[in-house]
Amino acid sequence: MDFDIILRGGQVLDGTGRERLAADVGVQGGRIQAVGDLSRKRARDEIDARGLFIAPGFIDLHSHGDWSILEGPWSDHRERQGITTELGGNCGSSPVHLDRHFQAVEEMGTATNYALLVGHGSVRKEVLGKEDRPPSREELKNMEYLVAEGMEAGAFGLSTGLIYVPGRFAATEEVLYLVKVVRRYGGTYNTHMRSESDTILEALDEALRIASSGDVPLEVSHIKVMLRRNWGKGERMIERIEAGRKLGLDITADLYPYTVTGGGFYGPGNFLPTWKEGGWESFRSAYQDKDQRVQLTDQVRSVLVERGGPEYFTVIATELGVASEALGLGLPELANLWKASPEEALLELFYREEGKVVLAFAALEEKELEGFLTVPWSMIGTDGTAKSRHPRPRGTYPRVLARYVRERGLLSWEEAIRKMTSLPAQRMGLKDRGIVAAGKWADLTVFDPLTVRDTATFLEPEARPEGVIHVLVNGELVVRDGVSTGCKPGRVLRRAG
Ligand SMILES: [Zn+2]
Repeated sequence: MDFDIILRGGQVLDGTGRERLAADVGVQGGRIQAVGDLSRKRARDEIDARGLFIAPGFIDLHSHGDWSILEGPWSDHRERQGITTELGGNCGSSPVHLDRHFQAVEEMGTATNYALLVGHGSVRKEVLGKEDRPPSREELKNMEYLVAEGMEAGAFGLSTGLIYVPGRFAATEEVLYLVKVVRRYGGTYNTHMRSESDTILEALDEALRIASSGDVPLEVSHIKVMLRRNWGKGERMIERIEAGRKLGLDITADLYPYTVTGGGFYGPGNFLPTWKEGGWESFRSAYQDKDQRVQLTDQVRSVLVERGGPEYFTVIATELGVASEALGLGLPELANLWKASPEEALLELFYREEGKVVLAFAALEEKELEGFLTVPWSMIGTDGTAKSRHPRPRGTYPRVLARYVRERGLLSWEEAIRKMTSLPAQRMGLKDRGIVAAGKWADLTVFDPLTVRDTATFLEPEARPEGVIHVLVNGELVVRDGVSTGCKPGRVLRRAG
């Protein structure tokens, strides 16, 4: 036998952006051994890939997999959408003592490769708790120690979540100080910026200042602009980032292909904070009283206006099922159905369902998302974890391929795959992954370009994607014929020093 596995007759998208070509791929000892005409070669396992695209396995540069990886039960949401490596520890949140965590992950075993950033927020919490004050000299030293410990253990950089407690309590100087630690190890600075809405341009300037003073590569996490009143700022962000790149700064960004964010799930408490305190009974009596109902309507209307309008809200859960006809409808459609104003319809929905209602709120503009998606320095990340109400941990990669490549032609197959593979590999300094070429690790995703698509929705976030046929991690099949094999060839990837 010449190889362990041969994938025969596929179209190879090598991940670099180069035009696809017909070729066989031979895998041996966990690595890609040959790419080309292998018709005279034989393998233990020969897989027919005619009609399929063979790409490098997708590298999820923005995952929160560390939140659930050790909790089980094992979830196959990564490999089922073609992900073979994930980078967790984003948005300032990570395990603190990475050595111990990595050991636990290795003992458990994983289907896909796993890597981490050190989370600034988690480090700060370990040293200062949730206190809103600058660290003392000694505390800063302790934080420095923990960041260095993480980098020694193999982290790929430092992440911040400057919008969250306790990351938001950190001044620019504190972050800059710690970024300089990361620089010593050749890591990156990945930031969930201090604002993604009204002061987003100032927040971007802070990130650029930290990257340039700290002399580190900058990754703008899940790049986006929230709330309709801010839409349009994306263009200015792109201009500033491109100006920085021209000056020699190494700046990239990642994003997920949805206009609803992770925090975009609204219940009655988001519209009626005072009712939230009083509970269901107080809402019911207020709703039944004519004058108080006017107040409730005003409150709901003002929230809808502040968020850009009722058209950005969709009903995704009605737990009692009394008003299940509302399920899946946008708020304006529901208002039409019930012949009411959007705010009246929403209140009626809360009333009928005793408050057990969830709406998805689209804080992002589709056009702006497309702008971020098509710049050459952006890449794809799920921002996901196994336990999520959002479809992104299961749908992100197939959704980009189906919606933005096949249906809309916004990206070529080659460019989309580059954003999922060699670009994130470059970001992480992974020299032997992210490209289909002899000598690289055999992380491969084989998909059908005619059928690949996401099926996860806000109503059914757990639905598995279609058209991802075979997935190999380190030369072993973790998905075969669209079904998980249960194999766990994944490794903990540590930054090479
Ligand atoms: Zn984030």
